[in-house]
Amino acid sequence: CRPEVSGLPRYNSGLSEEEVQRRYGLKNIVKLGSNENPYGPSDLVKSGWDVLMGRLGRYPDAGAATLRSDIAKTCGIAHDRVLVGNGSEQIIRMIAEAYLSPRDRVVTVRPAFGLHEICPRMMGAVVDAVPITAEATFDYAAMLAAVHQPTKLLMFANPSNPVGCMMTGEALRALIEACPPDTLIVVDEAYREYAEQDPDYPDARAILEKQARPWIILRTFSKAYGLAALRIGYALTSSADVTATLDSVRDPFNTNMPAQVAACAALADTAYMQDCVSKTVAERERVVQLLVTQGLFVAPTWTNFVFVRTPMLADKLSTALLERGIIIKPWKEAGFENWIRISIGLPEENNIMLRALADLVL
Ligand code: PMP
Repeated sequence: CRPEVSGLPRYNSGLSEEEVQRRYGLKNIVKLGSNENPYGPSDLVKSGWDVLMGRLGRYPDAGAATLRSDIAKTCGIAHDRVLVGNGSEQIIRMIAEAYLSPRDRVVTVRPAFGLHEICPRMMGAVVDAVPITAEATFDYAAMLAAVHQPTKLLMFANPSNPVGCMMTGEALRALIEACPPDTLIVVDEAYREYAEQDPDYPDARAILEKQARPWIILRTFSKAYGLAALRIGYALTSSADVTATLDSVRDPFNTNMPAQVAACAALADTAYMQDCVSKTVAERERVVQLLVTQGLFVAPTWTNFVFVRTPMLADKLSTALLERGIIIKPWKEAGFENWIRISIGLPEENNIMLRALADLVL
């Protein structure tokens, strides 16, 4: 294979409930490893399911016209500046395929969502990943310094995964303005719905609309909208040209019909989504408090998960939790081998996790 491919780190997509049941012979699994919405999707999604079953023999709408139009209306943007993907993961890959050539320089952060590094490296690009600070937040000075060199792509999540930190509007504006004029800016807002409750969470789009440069905002139905299984995410772009560029590397039927229909229904039920977010944010505050009481360092978070430094090696702790049927995500990168990421689940699931952690770590 290509040398770029043989050296690629493997994306850790975490263990499924089925895999843990099989491997450990357990029945009841608490899954807190993938930042899903434990309440699942709105009833509006469920009520459309029978109609969907009757349409399984037909190809989906390749251009996802209805969903794109619903997203365009919701976001107040032109239809031709919206693109949908088989999860926002697929759009990250499309961005890399469409924009990156060997030796192009990409700036991101570390630790980050794995594909922000893997997809650029797949194309032979060189990734400069700026480490987060000891306080577990973005290192603004180091990021500013990094984009002062030629930068083809700046890509990071706000709020971040796995750290959970939020970049303020002022910092975001300064960082974008420091980039060379032709840098493509990608702000991945997979967790925006959880951060939006904070008046300081920046409106990245309003900031980017003032820029005469290409940009893409990524969003997903996998988190707050509770549709992770269906694989559907979207991009808002700076222009119809950017959408067309991404479209030229898109698989023709890249999103399936049940996912398109479900995403439209989910988008129509904002109240349900916001209720899930409120419950998760309240529960997150309770979990953070209890973890801190256990003497653990918890990174400040604006998401539906917590990034926690433990006295044990993350891998060892994760295995011990798996043996009790609890899935979390251990970090393995150099410098972060003691960090685990725990998604906020239902209160009873969080209690099971907290009791097990107290047993193993204290
Ligand atoms: N971006 C970030 C920051 C994420 O955390 C995730 C999922 N964990 C994704 C993108 C991908 O989301 P999806 O493909 O499910 O839309």
